Amino acid sequence: MQTPIPDYLDELLDSLRGDTSGARAGYIPELANANPDLFAMAVTTATGSTYAAGDAQAEFSIQSISKPFAYAAAIMDRGLPTVLASIGVEPSGEAFNELSLEPGTNRPRNPMINAGAITAHGLLVGPDADPEARVDRALRLFSQLAGRQLRVDENVCVSELETADHNLAMAHMLRSYGILADDPHEVVTGYTRQCSILVTVTDLSMMAATLANGGVQPRTRERIMDPATARQVMSVMAVAGMYDGAGDWLTRVGIPAKSGVAGGLVGVLPDQVGIGAFSPRLDEHGNSQRAKRAFERLSSDMGMHLFAPSHGRLDVVGVQREGTREVFSLQGNVQFTAAAELLDLMAESTATGQVHVDISRVYSFTDVARRMTLEGLRRLRLDGRRVFLDDPLQALADPDLGDGTYPETP
Ligand code: GLU
Repeated sequence: MQTPIPDYLDELLDSLRGDTSGARAGYIPELANANPDLFAMAVTTATGSTYAAGDAQAEFSIQSISKPFAYAAAIMDRGLPTVLASIGVEPSGEAFNELSLEPGTNRPRNPMINAGAITAHGLLVGPDADPEARVDRALRLFSQLAGRQLRVDENVCVSELETADHNLAMAHMLRSYGILADDPHEVVTGYTRQCSILVTVTDLSMMAATLANGGVQPRTRERIMDPATARQVMSVMAVAGMYDGAGDWLTRVGIPAKSGVAGGLVGVLPDQVGIGAFSPRLDEHGNSQRAKRAFERLSSDMGMHLFAPSHGRLDVVGVQREGTREVFSLQGNVQFTAAAELLDLMAESTATGQVHVDISRVYSFTDVARRMTLEGLRRLRLDGRRVFLDDPLQALADPDLGDGTYPETP
């Protein structure tokens, strides 16, 4: 059988392709030439399975999505107290390119607005760092998080630098207030190179899944940052990731996220998933219109919301072979992540004998996990296997396989 999750993502993208509203970023000439019809999405679970759909191979510049990850690097390089002395953690409620300095301290309000991100870039590596070393630091970290070597798109970088007056003006202001220590031109050039690093939606999902895991890359299993840094970054994404729309986004969609003007959007649900989406046309706030809607649908279809009851990893999955019988067992409160793992295990199976799904130690299923589990059973039966469900606690009330038939009882 095949896991149905890619089909679901394909269908999700298809349902939104008709939305051609919005416009490509106009202020960076190279982005204004992007193919506006590209559309892709990828989800990576905390356990390292990736599901991708649409133009998942398309590379685009990371832009402002670099901000949370560069902030993480600044914390790792300089320590949280030093970073907090220069950059706040309060929502600004303003657009990405507002100066938004805190009265009294003159710190940029948070690292997700340009003023804060330029400051964070200036903190990378250490005091008096070589400008090139700061860019290398960002590139190295982003590559580790993505699990592959990334590179800078020089055309995008040059194109943005030609029109970077606004960021330069902000950097000069920050320097005049003593927030930025280095030469404003060098820091803005480095920040712009950091924004020009090319990624795919799969890279973004992997980077975010590392945050979701508290700093462990789900595929390479490498610890890249400590859990406290991952927590700090996710918290700031939740309060300030969506700029002036942060409150509306958090309440409605509930996936801490960060957008970029090239059309990317990254989101994270602690302990569960990292998500990447991409489509170049932007809404009036500068967020990708289709990527934003794809997140909205994922959140409502999959019950993925930071404050949904029983978020977090409260479930366990396993498989055992007993002669020609295969027993898949689940435990705990089963939600999307465990159900996706179950489907992966089922998809990997090459056995031909009976299939038993043992849910005798399951307390509850989320609605989507229930549907995914039943769909796995339905597909295995279509593959010609006899399927059994061991459910003494009736956790899966009415396990109709979608055609009025039921799994057998052991
Ligand atoms: N490099 C862009 C800038 O600084 C990033 C903006 C964004 O992606 O929101 O203007």
